[in-house]
Amino acid sequence: NTPSRDEQTDEDIIYTVYKPRNSFGHKGTFGHALLIAGSYGKIGAAVLSAEACLRSGVGLVTCHLPSCGYTIMQTSLPEVMVSTDVDKAISTTIETDLSMYKALGIGPGLGTASETRALLREVLTQYDRSVVMDADALNCVAKEPELLALIPAGSILTPHPKEFQRLFGDTSNEFDRIDLASQKAKELDLIIVLKGHHTLIALPDGRRFFNSTGNAGMATGGSGDVLTGILTGLLAQGYPGDDAAILGVYLHGLAGDLAAEKLSMEAMIAGDIIRFLGQAYKSIA
Ligand code: AMP
Ligand code: MG
Repeated sequence: NTPSRDEQTDEDIIYTVYKPRNSFGHKGTFGHALLIAGSYGKIGAAVLSAEACLRSGVGLVTCHLPSCGYTIMQTSLPEVMVSTDVDKAISTTIETDLSMYKALGIGPGLGTASETRALLREVLTQYDRSVVMDADALNCVAKEPELLALIPAGSILTPHPKEFQRLFGDTSNEFDRIDLASQKAKELDLIIVLKGHHTLIALPDGRRFFNSTGNAGMATGGSGDVLTGILTGLLAQGYPGDDAAILGVYLHGLAGDLAAEKLSMEAMIAGDIIRFLGQAYKSIA
């Protein structure tokens, strides 16, 4: 059992993790990401994830949506391709060959219906590269714990404390929760991003990073969906899971800090984190 080692994500680490964009690259070089997100009344979660994914630098984004989301996504984000579910309100089946996607992001606004849990089982069984699991994808796993063993090794889980508790049980305090996250990351060979004021990134090798960016203005609906998009986009671009988690969480917080500086913590909304992602990239490059 590897002992845990704590580090802060700061500019020095980011400098070693960030890879400048290949000048000769084309769409294929930067990867094709698939997002499985959204349900009736929560298509916005999919839109936020998809735009964040695009602005993370990925080559192509496809989003699988229930059919009620088709027009919403196509008019909100013309850059995104849509794979439409047979169901109007929830996602139930995907017919495309998943091996064409370099990374998958699953969960924002997805819902936890039994048909959606069956889809998640199918996807996790078929797909063998890293996935990002957030929000309702984690709530699906909490409802059906057998799904946990199907998550590909090296995948990234991004629970907020409530989702973490549903997944792995209650802890009496924050320190115990951090230790439990670290223990689960090692045990399951997964990267666990426990979101909060100083988001924890627990790696399977026992290293623990505490993020140094971000602010309370990000405590607003959709912030986490933006992070899912960024992380999926970084994986699709070829970043290894640990680097994607460290860089993605840092950039997300930094974009949030830049948004708060310009707009105030009160008035900023999740879409503003996406709008400031460009400035965040410029400041680390
Ligand atoms: P979610 O709860 O899934 O929407 O995720 C919220 C996101 O905003 C996570 O990335 C959190 O780390 C971030 N966030 C929320 N509240 C704060 C806070 N008080 N300080 C820093 N980051 C925060
Ligand atoms: Mg969330």
